Amino acid sequence: MPVSKGLHKMKWSGRKRSGNVVDRRGARGGMLGPGRSPGIRMGGGGGLSVGAVVIIIIIGMVFGINPLTLLDGSVGPTGGTAASSSQQLPAEGEDELADFVAVVVQETEDLWHQVFAENGMTYEPATVVLFSGQDRSACGLADARTGPFYCPSDRSVYIDLSFYEQLHREFGAPGDFAQAYVIAHEIGHHVQQLTGVLTQFNQARQRMSTEEVNAYSVRIELQADCYAGIWANYAGQQNLLESGDIEEALNAAEQIGDDTIQERTQGMAIPKTFTHGTSAQRQAWFSRGYESGDVSACDTYSVAI
Ligand SMILES: [Zn+2]
Repeated sequence: MPVSKGLHKMKWSGRKRSGNVVDRRGARGGMLGPGRSPGIRMGGGGGLSVGAVVIIIIIGMVFGINPLTLLDGSVGPTGGTAASSSQQLPAEGEDELADFVAVVVQETEDLWHQVFAENGMTYEPATVVLFSGQDRSACGLADARTGPFYCPSDRSVYIDLSFYEQLHREFGAPGDFAQAYVIAHEIGHHVQQLTGVLTQFNQARQRMSTEEVNAYSVRIELQADCYAGIWANYAGQQNLLESGDIEEALNAAEQIGDDTIQERTQGMAIPKTFTHGTSAQRQAWFSRGYESGDVSACDTYSVAI
């Protein structure tokens, strides 16, 4: 089923599109010419060191999960097959999705510009890279099978639009607002980069056990979910929501909870390996952001989660 079927065109069409979305669909990681990566900001400072990336990869291997999921938005092991041209969505549907993503990104920028300004700070937008198959990020290979992720080192979100079909088909989370939630969550990680949260995490983790790192990661991820909820609140203020939208996001949060994914893929959940939070936690923190519309409600570090 085409992903685009879930889009509510009337609400989104005609809205401004972000200029920070870089469309590299059709490019392949090894074939990118020097001119093919405009908009990527290398070495933004405070990003993950190469050492940290190596550690993450090792952790990922130990636990049999994709390393990028520790940094990413949403997904655990997907069991997908190698990306190939046969997996690509029809061009027409993907172009529509690309437009949709650019509108959502613009709306996140409007929100975070406002919130940062209210707090005496300046929001610098993330770059959002649309790719197909594979691409390069400063955090390593971006692969369609790993799901969307945020790379602190180049302050970019990477997303293969075919993920949305996977979100629908494999994770049982269809709908335009489920897709928007994923973007808003990843942009939430960018906000964490700008506020220093990810840098703190990166420094603290050097002294932590794997279990402690996982527990810390859960708090980071739940805060990104809360930020996605803040964005949903903002989207409501912009009159962008339709009935069922919040339910779509809550369903997505449920389907990509660590316990739900692990029970589905390995038959049992092992809480100490959770990196993103349970379904209930993800729903709760999204709701907290959505209902309050207040970033101060998103302190996942000093309260019981
Ligand atoms: Zn995340």
